[in-house]
Amino acid sequence: MTESIGTTGLVLNEPLLWEKGRMGRTGYSLPKTDVPSAAIDDALVGEGPDFPDLSEVDVVRHYTRLSQWNFSVDAGMYPLGSCTMKYNPKTNERQAGLPGFAGAHPLFPETLCQGILELMYDLERHLAEITGMDAVSLQPAAGAQGEFSGMLLIHAYHKRNGNPRSKILVPDTAHGTNPASATLCGYKSVAVKSGAKGILTPERVGELMDEETAGIMLTNPNTLGLFENHVKAIAAIVHDKGGLVYCDGANMNALMGIVDMAAIGIDVLHLNLHKTFSTPHGGGGPGSGPICVRRHLEPFLPVPRIVKTGETFGLSEDFPESVGKLHAFFGNVGVMIKAYSYILSMGPDHLKKASQLAVLNANYVKERLKGVFHLPFDAPCMHECVFTDKHQAARKVTTLDMVKRLMDYGFHPPTVYFPLVVSGAIMIEPTETESKENLDRFVEAMTAIASEAGENPEGLKSAPTRCKVKRLDEVTAARRPCLVEPPALKGEAPR
Ligand SMILES: *Cc1c(COP(=O)(O)O)cnc(C)c1O
Repeated sequence: MTESIGTTGLVLNEPLLWEKGRMGRTGYSLPKTDVPSAAIDDALVGEGPDFPDLSEVDVVRHYTRLSQWNFSVDAGMYPLGSCTMKYNPKTNERQAGLPGFAGAHPLFPETLCQGILELMYDLERHLAEITGMDAVSLQPAAGAQGEFSGMLLIHAYHKRNGNPRSKILVPDTAHGTNPASATLCGYKSVAVKSGAKGILTPERVGELMDEETAGIMLTNPNTLGLFENHVKAIAAIVHDKGGLVYCDGANMNALMGIVDMAAIGIDVLHLNLHKTFSTPHGGGGPGSGPICVRRHLEPFLPVPRIVKTGETFGLSEDFPESVGKLHAFFGNVGVMIKAYSYILSMGPDHLKKASQLAVLNANYVKERLKGVFHLPFDAPCMHECVFTDKHQAARKVTTLDMVKRLMDYGFHPPTVYFPLVVSGAIMIEPTETESKENLDRFVEAMTAIASEAGENPEGLKSAPTRCKVKRLDEVTAARRPCLVEPPALKGEAPR
């Protein structure tokens, strides 16, 4: 690799607006007033923050420069595993912004909301078809809330059968939200150790599953990017003891239209529309974590549910066994519109193809890098692959050093030190939309960094060297964030 795709020459520094402002500078011009001027009552206006005076160019450049300090999937490859930072076609944003959708209010009467209700009703049907499940609720506002809702359903199901049970099995590779959701629901989570191949074994689940255990919360593909090959046998063991199988479906990008979740024994799963179905995420934007269930869990789904009577759509709370409302209104509707638009614009064949390409791309990266970095589980992967820093450890080079260096080559670092069961993990999810050339450049950059680790391990300790911000003290940044107070606020709380 001779040249990085990164450059820093024209990324400019930018002060706070308060430092930039100059008294009397202005960003607008209004026509001369043709009505008599009147004094403003100071008591009515109150004392506000002292906003700086700025020209239009000052403001435009300020925000444009700040935006250029950011990195996004629109700027380059973003191989963050477990997050599915896939490209989200802009047309889906446009559909969500159509005035009829964007201007709708949740308090409108149903007669004025037939279009959006029909869209949500159809989206539920589509998600059921994609996953192979029977019924869906779009209510949960994130993956974690989907998990929590799934736990509530499992709890309600067991309670109706006489004993809500007290424990739930959670594999040691699970995302941290899994045990957290189970705990919030009052279940004690029991860790299941994955087998030597990085996946669950029926034997281990069989040893732990009993009639006090409500079920298992597994992730498929799991967070090592591996398909849980024994899920059917595991589901049979859990069902045999009266338990239920929850699937964390955040990794659906590998499986769309390929795996029938009901057929492999899943009773309830959540999807992350903001990972798989075309909503950008990161930075805490709105999400959506629909839950998809088999028939026997449908009575417990959250309310309101979308119902169709004749040709009319409505919202109904008339489900006596429901676990109730999850939050105000219906969830993050804008995210649902994007998912609906994505699903219809892709169609069944292309959704399946997206998953196939995601899997192909990850396997390509895995095969090309497997001599360069230690691959803890050498098996075909799904949409992401996990390496470690074991080969570089003798030179005292860590995962952190290497991924920091990756930024000098123009790539966002992959997910690191997750899943926790793999020491020094480097978790790469290229997604389906990266071309072979991009993947090759990424592989070359990673390979060049591995060579640097051999030749000049000390040099990597100061990486990144070409970025605007160099190596940060991440512990201090998290523990003692330095929140600069804009000078003109003079100690007032910012508004
Ligand atoms: C992202 C993710 C979650 C949590 O989803 P949120 O929408 O962030 O709450 C859960 N499990 C897995 C495997 C994930 O990747």
